[in-house]
Amino acid sequence: MQRRPILAAAVTILLAICDAVPAPAQGVKSRPPAAAPQCDPANFRVIVDVGHTPESPGAVSARGVDEYAFNLALAKVIDTKLRDAGFNRAHLLLASGQAIPSLVRRVAQANALSADLLVSIHHDSVPEAFKSMWEFGGVQRPYSDRFRGHSIFVSADNPDYQGSVTFAKMLGAKLKARGLEYTQHYKEAFMGSRRRLLVDPETGVYRYDQLLILRTARMPSVLLEAGSIIHRDEEELMGTEEHQLKIAGAVTEAVETFCSLRPAKTQRASTQR
Ligand SMILES: [Zn+2]
Repeated sequence: MQRRPILAAAVTILLAICDAVPAPAQGVKSRPPAAAPQCDPANFRVIVDVGHTPESPGAVSARGVDEYAFNLALAKVIDTKLRDAGFNRAHLLLASGQAIPSLVRRVAQANALSADLLVSIHHDSVPEAFKSMWEFGGVQRPYSDRFRGHSIFVSADNPDYQGSVTFAKMLGAKLKARGLEYTQHYKEAFMGSRRRLLVDPETGVYRYDQLLILRTARMPSVLLEAGSIIHRDEEELMGTEEHQLKIAGAVTEAVETFCSLRPAKTQRASTQR
């Protein structure tokens, strides 16, 4: 008959003890609330694709320099900047040989690397109809000072179109934050077959569905036309280290933001490159 009072007393004491136990200090012992995805740069692989090849070097600048030289120089600065930010698995994608076969090889390499993101680096020119002639280095050369600025392209045929657009907008925003303006001429009717749909007027993202590298790469992919090398002033600017670092900073910050939203899909062994 005396068990109930004893049991009640024991429960009372137990409750008193429990109340006396201090709550765990915040952020020390408590489990964190539903954690937001976090970027692990060492595990996130971004491919920096160098547009064109030494044998098939793309556009020619107003001063007669091949686009490939500009692409390679800027891509190297971007690769270094990414590594400095901890993206140790960044991969500089280079190819040699003629245009289409080398492009097919680059895409095959990119897909074999199972990367999380691909950024293809190019420099722009204009259709022949917009070019005038000037003399540089004793040689008559084509140029056009009509359009300047960068542009960013995505393909709706890429298997991760939404991911591609997400990164493209981030990159456009980072370039804009550095005072760089995108070129608007791709949306104009006078561009004819080279007219593109402007996906995002805020950040200068265009759709170019047919671009082989964007549509066949199996990861979010964007192509950056970093600037116009047929424009005489912009060509000089694109050749400066200061400007290359500015663009590389924008790419790296955009990759960091993208990585924090969409961490690496695959956990890779630390020894794998
Ligand atoms: Zn190009």
